[in-house]
Amino acid sequence: MARYCICCTRMRPNEAFSGRGPPVCHRCKKLPKLERQASMALEEIHGFLCRQKNISAKNITRLRELLDFPSHDVAAFARMVLQVAEIAPRRRHRVRNLQARDPVLLRQVAEVDYSIEIDYSDAESLVDVEFESLYEPSDMTEPIDRFYDRYDRVRTG
Ligand SMILES: [Zn+2]
Repeated sequence: MARYCICCTRMRPNEAFSGRGPPVCHRCKKLPKLERQASMALEEIHGFLCRQKNISAKNITRLRELLDFPSHDVAAFARMVLQVAEIAPRRRHRVRNLQARDPVLLRQVAEVDYSIEIDYSDAESLVDVEFESLYEPSDMTEPIDRFYDRYDRVRTG
């Protein structure tokens, strides 16, 4: 039997858990508290963006709280998802709406939402965006890159 650890987001053997409290494996319990909370917050935000049909008003309240989270990765990801919620809270037509209103944001979303595929070869506007982001990195680029590194690390262990 295996259980899902809500911190490293992987299936871990039953022995890796103690009976009480939230399902967090022993290995994750040894992480510093802030790092553990950051992993869980990233996963929570990822859920709002990628696993829900709609980013709800309640989610938005939670995202605003996470703007003050003492980790830039979490705060930056919360800020990004709040921007998405402003333009396209519903998953349906999100790609189309973001492409029309904020193609740079769409690119950032596509990096974390693997269900989105963008055909860059076929979209002149996105080619421009790509060019811009290569030569004029926005403030968001650095924390978001760090988030991806971290996120991949957490996902793949
Ligand atoms: Zn774990």
